[in-house]
Amino acid sequence: MAKKWVYLFDQLDEARSYVGGDWEGVRGLLGGKGANLAEMTRIGLPVPPGFSVTTEACNAYLAEGMKFPGEMWEQELAALAEVEKKSGKKFGDSKNPLLVSCRSGAKFSMPGMMDTVLNIGLNEETVNGMIEATGDPRFVYDLYRRLIQMFGSVVMGVPDEPFEEVIAEFRDARGAKSDTELTADDWKGVGERFKEIFRRYCGIDFPSDPYEQLRLATEAVFKSWNGKRAIDYRNAAKIPHDLGTAVNIQTMVFGNMGQNSATGVSMTRNATTGEKKIEGDYLMNAQGEDVVAGIRATLPVEQMAETLPNAWNQFVDITRTLEQHYRNMQDVEFTVERGTLWMLQTRDGKRTAQAAVRIAADMAEEGLISREEAVMRVTPEQVDFFLHPQFNVSSRKAAIEEGRSLAAGLNVSPGAAVGVAAFDADLAESWAKKDGKKVIMVRPETKPDDVHGMLAAEGILTSRGGRTSHAALVARQFGKPAVVGVAALNIDMGQRLMKVGDKVINEGDWISIDGTTGEVFMGQLDTVVPDISDPWLMKLLLWADEFRRLDVWANADYPHDAKRARAYGARGIGLCRTEHMFFQAERLPHVQRLIMSNDPAVMRESLDALLHFQREDFAGLFRAMDGLPVIIRLIDPPLHEFLPSFENLLSELADSKVRLQHAASLKEIDDLLKKIEENERILKSVEALHEANPMLGLRGVRLGITMPELTQMQVRAIFEAACQCAKQGVDVHPEIMIPLTCHVNELKKQREALETVAKEVMAQERETIDYKFGTMIEVPRAALTADEIAEYAEFFSFGTNDLTQTTFGISRDDAEKGFLINYVQNGILPENPFVSIDDKGLAKLMQTGVELGRTTRPTLEVGICGEHGGDPKSIAICHRLGLNYVSCSPFRVPIARLAAAHAALKERGAGGHED
Ligand code: PEP
Ligand code: MG
Repeated sequence: MAKKWVYLFDQLDEARSYVGGDWEGVRGLLGGKGANLAEMTRIGLPVPPGFSVTTEACNAYLAEGMKFPGEMWEQELAALAEVEKKSGKKFGDSKNPLLVSCRSGAKFSMPGMMDTVLNIGLNEETVNGMIEATGDPRFVYDLYRRLIQMFGSVVMGVPDEPFEEVIAEFRDARGAKSDTELTADDWKGVGERFKEIFRRYCGIDFPSDPYEQLRLATEAVFKSWNGKRAIDYRNAAKIPHDLGTAVNIQTMVFGNMGQNSATGVSMTRNATTGEKKIEGDYLMNAQGEDVVAGIRATLPVEQMAETLPNAWNQFVDITRTLEQHYRNMQDVEFTVERGTLWMLQTRDGKRTAQAAVRIAADMAEEGLISREEAVMRVTPEQVDFFLHPQFNVSSRKAAIEEGRSLAAGLNVSPGAAVGVAAFDADLAESWAKKDGKKVIMVRPETKPDDVHGMLAAEGILTSRGGRTSHAALVARQFGKPAVVGVAALNIDMGQRLMKVGDKVINEGDWISIDGTTGEVFMGQLDTVVPDISDPWLMKLLLWADEFRRLDVWANADYPHDAKRARAYGARGIGLCRTEHMFFQAERLPHVQRLIMSNDPAVMRESLDALLHFQREDFAGLFRAMDGLPVIIRLIDPPLHEFLPSFENLLSELADSKVRLQHAASLKEIDDLLKKIEENERILKSVEALHEANPMLGLRGVRLGITMPELTQMQVRAIFEAACQCAKQGVDVHPEIMIPLTCHVNELKKQREALETVAKEVMAQERETIDYKFGTMIEVPRAALTADEIAEYAEFFSFGTNDLTQTTFGISRDDAEKGFLINYVQNGILPENPFVSIDDKGLAKLMQTGVELGRTTRPTLEVGICGEHGGDPKSIAICHRLGLNYVSCSPFRVPIARLAAAHAALKERGAGGHED
């Protein structure tokens, strides 16, 4: 039997058995739209009869040099005959003609990226039949001209402008303000003129044979899969290029058949906030594309309760059925034709991060999905949006007081964005990419061709369009702050400026938009990152905590960071980089004196001063983390980092010497001589500390061994702070961490020296502190000899920044501004190993480290504190390797909590599905 290329909407079971029963397979074969139309038909919802031509047919067509595969067309005709039976109409019939739509529908929704032709089947004869059947010539001539226009632009590539000019001409001739005032004769005349345009651009007559129309429209949809805007969209949305699109042929129903007809698009819940309330737009007496195009002002969908109450009640019931059935928020399209409701599409609705979180949490509480599914439905990137910038309250207030508030529109994608106004996509992209400018893309409305500019921009602002407009959908999907439908905004593309009242903003001027509130401001407002106190997110993260095996700790140096980390759910400090405190203005001179002096008294004095500071630092951390572990890493970087640079010193010295020759007073000479002496002294120290490869030199544990006074002071500070806090009732758990160990003997020596200090302090203070002693694993040798190292370490923490550097032999400080990015772009490396743990190499070393370490010490605590600790992919690897915790920056803690839960749930096979 010939391959089946075409499935009627009521042949879902056949499609399902062809793909082996799996719904994803059905979506792959029939496309998302086709699969859902078939599913809605199966569960008894009112769907106009139709069929889908499969994605396999599309791929075969594209592979076979633009030829329909064998029997596909015959199957399409046979399916059409079935649709004729179901609808009681006949395609091409002069009395009772069937009209169909032809739409693309890939596995993953690609809004507006591919092509649609409506009203197929109209020609001179069927027009007359339709007029007889409907008694409404104006309506039929309008349909006909729409077919010629859409067919012309979609199938034959005729530009839209000449068509629009003709309509404008007819409007002017009649003195009409809008299209609704045009008469049947006008539309008839428009249709005639459209045919001329068609002939002029295409060199052929508009095809009057309905079957020819259908064949060409099917081909156009197939071809649109490889159109530029579809390819760009797939690249941006990471949709594979080999999926192909299905073609859905469906009986036309009309929302423009008078005041008992309507058409609309709607979400079953609010796509911006997630509130459980139907949200959408509709138009009375209109065709579907009028709603999406944003040409006529749409009405909120709930107003249908008054205008079309029966259809509205049925619609509300259907949205409930759909949510129950798909167990997800749906984005639906519908038409009411003379009082009868028809469902034209349903799909999982795109939503903001806030909405995704609230909908997942609400649906779990409503019992529609499990908590595991709710957690799986939210992506780590969506959690990240909760940490997106908002306008600083005082900056916003000042802008309002200074009269810089411009206008307000619809708040369709949250977050604050600041940039210079760019009025087209190409300019937005080039300013952002080539000139490194921050850009807000401003348009009357956006089209699929604008996506590249939208992606490059910080935010999007449009004067037209609603919540379901193209701009809103795309912005939400890619997490770009967006304000749309700002009616007060007068954009003059000719002069490249926009006006609100008498305020003028030229292209290139700064503006600020708030996608959370819908506000638009002139100039630059300051932004702040908000606290994540969203109750639904909190709930979801608490559920995530129940599922994850990895603990989440934070890298924090100061008490306020530790407090934030704890508020975000961190259960420990995985890394406090103590040297960061040395750089503070009041401390650096002590550090420098310590490094440069050979005088024991001076050194003692410097150490005492530093001890005082560090004790306070650590006490603050212990208090903030009361009851939780705090890992404090002893000094790590090479000492020259604390001194001025060699080059600066040399140039300062040269400068002082020149000035000395021209000095005018004795005092000046005196000062300059002192400065020269000081500079020469520092220069000597810097020269003495100079190393060709400082990152592989005297740093980490090597420094601790070479200069024991410094690390001993740090340990003293830790234990004095711990004893002091313990006396005040704080539950302290310090963990002392040694950096860059490569040989067990280093650790053995350091541990002996440092534990002596610890014991001394505890004895002096008469306190017993529960502490651990451990090391970072940052060089391959440490991982490979982890069994020996674990003899002297109660914990390991993988410093994957250095471990990546030392495993790849790539300098972490230089590579990312050099060849590494090229390597990644050219596919030499699959990804940047400083972002995600290299699973093939580095993960193997980590695995060896964990296994060997735990052979010696089964209770060994193992974590990660390199930047990878906040990266979801790396977190999954850490989960697999059986680490105890990941430690990351405080702002990434919520993301890590979710990513750790995802890793655990995926291991259990609780896939759920991610939006
Ligand atoms: C590391 O190397 O991964 C680490 C956490 O230490 P640092 O980044 O301070 O070298
Ligand atoms: Mg390191």
